[in-house]
Amino acid sequence: MPDYGLRGQAAVVTGSTSGIGRAMAAALAGEGVDVVLNGFGDAAGIEAARAALAAASGVRVLYHGADMTRPAEIADLVGFAHRELGRLDILLNNAGVQHVAAIEDFPPEKWDQIIAINLTSAFHATRAAIPIMKAQGRGRIVNLASAHGLVASPFKSAYVAAKHGLVGFTKAAALELARSGVTVNAICPGYVRTPLVEAQIADQAKARGIPAERVVEDVILAAQPNKAFVEYPQLAGLLLYLASDMGAATTGAALSVDGGWTAA
Ligand code: NAD
Repeated sequence: MPDYGLRGQAAVVTGSTSGIGRAMAAALAGEGVDVVLNGFGDAAGIEAARAALAAASGVRVLYHGADMTRPAEIADLVGFAHRELGRLDILLNNAGVQHVAAIEDFPPEKWDQIIAINLTSAFHATRAAIPIMKAQGRGRIVNLASAHGLVASPFKSAYVAAKHGLVGFTKAAALELARSGVTVNAICPGYVRTPLVEAQIADQAKARGIPAERVVEDVILAAQPNKAFVEYPQLAGLLLYLASDMGAATTGAALSVDGGWTAA
């Protein structure tokens, strides 16, 4: 493993009580980065995960329960990280939710929720982080987008709209910050077998009228030419690269980790 030179830095990872966010927070902590976790879940379970990560990595691991639909709480999360850890080097805008339904059946409140969590929360967190990172003369903002930030699939209109929006926001922010030492990039994974995807298997089966066991093969891995789920270390490697000095010239990019999905 290369030395990414991140020891002593501080990160916020939104939506890190589960799935990709939890794995990325662990990868950062493993490189000596102090981390603020965020996300929903059972309080005792979150505290156990927080304490276990702190013990395993030897860095400071804190938790803030900001709801990513609430702008004031998002600003408070970023302020909390800066106050408690003394700096803020890495912001990973990762929190996200999904809902799978045809547009004419799509509940409007689900549309609003997905746009708020998957897109607008990244604006609020970035807005709060920019003054801190500019004052430091260095920062790394990484937006966890998706292959669905680059191409569409049916029955995921809100998610596809939010992720395309997140890629656009990434580009605009990168241009604004291009001379500040702060980079902004989007990671666009294909399918990763997290709780978010497990839930979709049932929803996709209903929307498409096929048995759940056929969804993995015919729908999910059908999109990925390498016929394999993306694994957490394959995302962590890119995140650590972007966070390091090696990533300094990469900004405004939407980087695919999708087994060839968006090459088709
Ligand atoms: P997940 O369901 O395992 O985790 C989502 C996290 O977001 C959880 O910690 C949850 O508590 C948190 N969260 C949800 N709503 C929140 C809110 N209102 N406020 C604060 N936290 C909230 O999902 P995942 O698969 O790990 O997804 C993480 C990110 O990766 C999402 O942005 C998702 O769109 C993206 N992504 C996932 C895949 C995949 O195949 N799993 C592929 C591409 C992109």
